[in-house]
Amino acid sequence: MSNTEQTLSIIKPDAVERNLVEEIKNIFIKNGLKIKESKKIHITKDEASEFYKVHQSKPFYNDLCSYLSSGPIVVMILEGENAVLANRKLMGATNPKDAEADTIRNLFGISIDKNSVHGSDSKNNAKQEIEFFFKI
Ligand code: UDP
Ligand code: MG
Repeated sequence: MSNTEQTLSIIKPDAVERNLVEEIKNIFIKNGLKIKESKKIHITKDEASEFYKVHQSKPFYNDLCSYLSSGPIVVMILEGENAVLANRKLMGATNPKDAEADTIRNLFGISIDKNSVHGSDSKNNAKQEIEFFFKI
């Protein structure tokens, strides 16, 4: 049975800065995820803090919010079969050192904070994160 879903992907400042946007988009497309919406934006630290508020008790929260607002990012709605999990698999583990071969973070991630991409981790969070950036 098919299970078409949407999920939110973000190409983080480290990857936008290194001109990796098209290369990362091609990984999604080649692996069957359609890019339904895409926009390049530069968010404020307050917006980043709101987006990442689930992490507000973590020691890395402040740096994480500063980082996400430090330069342009590309936010996308990806759509496809089991898109939430499919995207997480293409991203690889949070720490690029642990990311499986040929995953986006393995190929492009610099460090645990500059790990090139964000992806929603559940269908419910995907809906909320898409609403956050696309207000739909
Ligand atoms: N992060 C960090 N230090 C840590 C753990 C996470 O800087 O020790 C950052 C990292 O950029 C990660 C983000 O916080 O992508 C959100 O963390 P999460 O555990 O949700 O990882 P993800 O879902 O992005 O794999
Ligand atoms: Mg997460």
